[in-house]
Amino acid sequence: MERGNLKEVAEAIKDAKIVVALTGAGISTESGIPDFRSKNGLWSRFNINEYGYIDNIISNPAKVWKMLRSLINDLKDAKPNPAHIALAKMEEKGYLHAIITQNVDSLHQKAGSKNVVEFHGNFREAICLQCRKIYPIEYALRQEIPRCECGGLLKPNAVFFGEPIERDVLIKSFGYTENCNVMLVVGTSAMVYPAAQLPVMAKQNGAMIVEINEEPSMIAGIADHSFYGKAGEILPKLASLL
Ligand SMILES: [Zn+2]
Repeated sequence: MERGNLKEVAEAIKDAKIVVALTGAGISTESGIPDFRSKNGLWSRFNINEYGYIDNIISNPAKVWKMLRSLINDLKDAKPNPAHIALAKMEEKGYLHAIITQNVDSLHQKAGSKNVVEFHGNFREAICLQCRKIYPIEYALRQEIPRCECGGLLKPNAVFFGEPIERDVLIKSFGYTENCNVMLVVGTSAMVYPAAQLPVMAKQNGAMIVEINEEPSMIAGIADHSFYGKAGEILPKLASLL
């Protein structure tokens, strides 16, 4: 059941010192990027146990990179949608201080957002599993089994299953979460830990939680305002009230 008042949310944002948005795959589906876990998502086409884990890329890099290549190509053509653009405009006007995104598609940056914490890393870069040197992803795409100058295997600079979240990313995310007065939770069912902790932590610290999702998620239980529908329609409406 929808229970949200956009005007109240806009007023809270105007009064807030710190406003943070936590975004997930749902914000990018309107840009044509399938949600990893949905019916047509990545993990319905590729077995997560053969492609999703860090051990998979180490034991069979040619196979996993073949899938990554097509995924990265899909991402390259994707364009930010009105939801990404509304968040970028809110930041520009001083009403949004940070985006914590679970997405690796760089669409927030393409929309013009500046302060983006990439919780699960990104697909713009590749990183060496041996020496941690970072390359533009194009460097890796030129090789069938991408390798670093040091001989180590390269992987996209994104978090695979079985890998920890980067320490500085966690510190930044928890910092924004503890200090925000309003948290917009957009396009995420917040089921994957540790990202799932963030709205709960924000709520415990007194923040207003605003859920914007296609359908009710586990966030609904703690949300002060919930809006169900397309983020590309709801966020521009919110931005227009600021
Ligand atoms: Zn290396």
